[in-house]
Amino acid sequence: MAEYTTFDICVIGAGIAGASVAAELADRARVLLVERESQPGYHTTGRSAALFSTTYGPSVIRALSRASEPFYNNPPPGFDRPLLTPRGALMIARSDQLESLDTLQRELAGAAGVERLDGSAARALVPLLRSGHVAAAIFEHFAQDIDVHALHQGYLRQFRTRGGTFVANAGVDAIRRGNGGWTIAAGSRTFEAATIVNAAGAWGDAVAEMAGIASVGLVPKRRTAAIIALPDGTSAHHWPMVIDIDEEFYAKPDAGRLLISPADETPSEPCDAQPDEYDVAVAVDRIETALEIEVRRIENKWAGLRTFAADKNPVVGWGDADRSFFWLAGQGGYGIQTAPALAKLSAALVLGTAPVRAIMDQGVDLQSMSPERAVLRK
Ligand SMILES: Cc1cc2nc3c(=O)[nH]c(=O)nc-3n(C[C@H](O)[C@H](O)[C@H](O)COP(=O)(O)OP(=O)(O)OC[C@H]3O[C@@H](n4cnc5c(N)ncnc54)[C@H](O)[C@@H]3O)c2cc1C
Repeated sequence: MAEYTTFDICVIGAGIAGASVAAELADRARVLLVERESQPGYHTTGRSAALFSTTYGPSVIRALSRASEPFYNNPPPGFDRPLLTPRGALMIARSDQLESLDTLQRELAGAAGVERLDGSAARALVPLLRSGHVAAAIFEHFAQDIDVHALHQGYLRQFRTRGGTFVANAGVDAIRRGNGGWTIAAGSRTFEAATIVNAAGAWGDAVAEMAGIASVGLVPKRRTAAIIALPDGTSAHHWPMVIDIDEEFYAKPDAGRLLISPADETPSEPCDAQPDEYDVAVAVDRIETALEIEVRRIENKWAGLRTFAADKNPVVGWGDADRSFFWLAGQGGYGIQTAPALAKLSAALVLGTAPVRAIMDQGVDLQSMSPERAVLRK
């Protein structure tokens, strides 16, 4: 296939955001997808907890997650299936946390598949919960595990099939605005494109600054995860994910083991995030307090950056009056579950076509994601 050095659109960053929007654009424009690393899922996309929940996050995130569900349930040809498998999510509260549980229950009033449980019903679902630890819980039946690798690879495959050009090992280090477009330098390579889509995750503001576009005040926040063994003879395969109602920790079955996290949110520079021993120890302590598990060994541990704007809504829309620099950033802790809807919506906005009706009908408010509101609030 012919390689162009001049493109209609250059997408910077090939995590789930960049891969998905590039795939949605590639059958209607000449699209370049550039990635600094050799592996496109190396940063946050490859480090998630892989949960799909339509009750998690701010209201625009919930709307985008609902709007993503049809894609997950019926992905196009070329995606491995299934992308989702049943899991369930159990939000647990101690007696001193019941106010938080009541607040969530009010927020979720009328949502399908959500029920309040007492402590013993919660323990029936997760028998290792310590007796007396859980006063009450909210169980979300329809929370699911996402096959993140299948989703990400599916989009990259679709992008190539549609004629897109993917260049790895290409960190964009200079961006210059010229007549009718952008000149984008990545080491010794130079590309030209009329439009840039900024999908650089934790580096979103850095990419904007290179292009002379106002930054939006993104803050990458480190979150730690670790894998531990279950007690001998315990199978957690059918357990839901257990989430402390105030997000003090969570635990999720993962291939016969348990993924645990202290749900930390430590502000960080954009970087290759590494787990901090203290955060791993906090996770272990909270797990041992809530569950009848004695953690003898950490089998694996990692950290990733969840990147937020000040109000925790994503940043999606044009960053300049010329409509040549488009933001797709600030997905925080929800960038996998919302990727299908965000990609379709962003592609429509970039191409100037009408936003997909089925997405807007879920109550997606474009103003709540606009770069201008993020600039104002930073
Ligand atoms: C522990 C943890 C648990 C999570 N759990 C969930 C969950 O259960 N469900 C959910 O939906 N989400 C979850 N998330 C959040 C989710 O992983 C992110 O929202 C999502 O991966 C963000 O994708 P992205 O493509 O924006 O970022 P990234 O995957 O970080 O991709 C950005 C890419 O841009 C590249 N890049 C940056 N600068 C340049 C440059 N100058 N030139 C070229 N390339 C560049 C980077 O190398 C990187 O590959 C979790 C995150 C963490 C850390």
